[in-house]
Formats: sequence, C-alpha cells, structure tokens
Amino acid sequence: MKHTLDIVPLKSWLDTGDKPLIIAGPCSAETEEQVVSTAHLLANTGKVNVLRAGIWKPRTRPGEFEGIGSIGLEWLKRAKEETGLLTATEVATAKHVEEALAAGVDILWVGARSTANPFTVQEIADALQGVDVPVLVKNPVNPDLSLWIGALERINGAGIKKLAAIHRGFSSFEKTAFRNEPMWDLAIQLKSACPELPIINDPSHICGNRELIPYIAQKAMDMDLQGLIIESHIDPSVAWTDAKQQVTPAALSDLLDNLSVRRPES
Ligand code: PEP
Ligand code: MN
Repeated sequence: MKHTLDIVPLKSWLDTGDKPLIIAGPCSAETEEQVVSTAHLLANTGKVNVLRAGIWKPRTRPGEFEGIGSIGLEWLKRAKEETGLLTATEVATAKHVEEALAAGVDILWVGARSTANPFTVQEIADALQGVDVPVLVKNPVNPDLSLWIGALERINGAGIKKLAAIHRGFSSFEKTAFRNEPMWDLAIQLKSACPELPIINDPSHICGNRELIPYIAQKAMDMDLQGLIIESHIDPSVAWTDAKQQVTPAALSDLLDNLSVRRPES
C-alpha cells in the first residue's frame, strides 16, 4: 500500500551533489576534546556532511553510560563553529527536542527503541509542532514495517517535511554475524510504500563490528539508498559505547574512498 508523506526532497535541505549523504561521528559524546577532535578529523576528510553524537543514550540495561547529557550540546555547538559540519543527535523525549533545538542542533533523529513506542514518537512529534528541522527516523528494533511508517507519519503529521528514514537493522533471537539483521526486504518495502522518502543506511548498528561495515555500506549503495550514518571515534578502542563497531576518521575516509557509488541519472 502506498503512503503519502508530505515531504520535501533531500536535496532541498541538504544538497550533497551527486554524492550520498554522509553522517559520521561517535556513538556517544564523551568529552569536549573527543567530540571536537573527532569533528576536525572528519571535516578534514572532506567527505562528511553531518557530525553525529549521542548526548542521551538509550541503554538496554541500567548502570551503563547513559549519555553525557545537556553539556554535550555545547560541545556539538563548538564542533560546528570550528568545522562547519552540521550536527545531529538522538531525541527521545519532548525535553530532549527542546534542549537540542535551543542549542542549535541541525538534525534530530529518533532512535530504534523510541520508534517502537507510539506514545514516545507522539511526544516527540508534539514537541516538533511548528518547528522546521530535519528529522531522521530509525527503524524500530523489531521488524515491523507499519511501526516504522507509523512513526514517520506521526513526525510528518507534526509538520516536519524534511524527513528521512534510517535503516539500522532488526533484533533477532537467532545469533548471526550481524548485531542487527539487515532484513533488506523491509528497506525495499519502505521504499516502495513511500517512494519519495530518502533512506539512509546505518551499517554500524547493523554490523556491530567494524569488519563488516564496508560490505553493508556497499550493499546500501548498490540499492541506491541515499546516504550512510557511520559511527566514528578518534580512538575506538577506548570508546565508552559501541567500541567494536566504531571506526577512526582515517578508516572512514578509506571506506568511503573504496565505495562504488552509482551516479543518479539527471
Ligand atoms: C545510536 O545511533 O547510537 C543508537 C543508539 O542507535 P539505535 O537507536 O539504532 O540503536
Ligand atoms: Mn551506537
């Protein structure tokens, strides 16, 4: 079934020419130095459009690092001022939305755990009423296309027209090489249900380890997805979250150089 989302083309809010949109940065903002130095190295590659960093982290179990909180927004602001990179972070409550917008974060994303909860998505949507900010909606943790589309509809219903989906893979009971099963079919089904909607692939959270990232990133490009969001840390071995899947800015640069990207027909 086709879904009508009232959105504007990606090119109108983030023009990356004939290249895919590249979002990169640490899983979590840890320290000011880590955020700012990672941002500089990423900006220096000349291949990254947006700096990502989680400020509030949805952890599966309590007692782990749950994000540096609001102070990290200041670090993103400094990283943007010094590098010119746009910034993006995850929001999961109305308060996160208000704080991120007040701090000038350019792009917000809804995380996989939030997408699975319509009340949470609606709370985020309500906080976005009357705001003109791009929002990216990750797929829910479970392989439920309707839940993904429903979240996109709720955010779109709040008047957000700069909208894209993030394909980050799906939890499965079966243990495989991936942290989250790509289940490419669901991305394909989203594409045919909402043909105008850009889809960005998140190989980091699909793979859960850096070795598989080039393979998934290439597959996303072969499927003509519009971009990639890849976790990059100045020193992944000491990352406070998702250490196994983060890549250095230099490794990211190599990975992007080795991707073969089809040029869209104009
Ligand atoms: C993240 O992007 O760091 C994150 C928590 O992702 P997800 O919501 O896909 O698990
Ligand atoms: Mn992460």
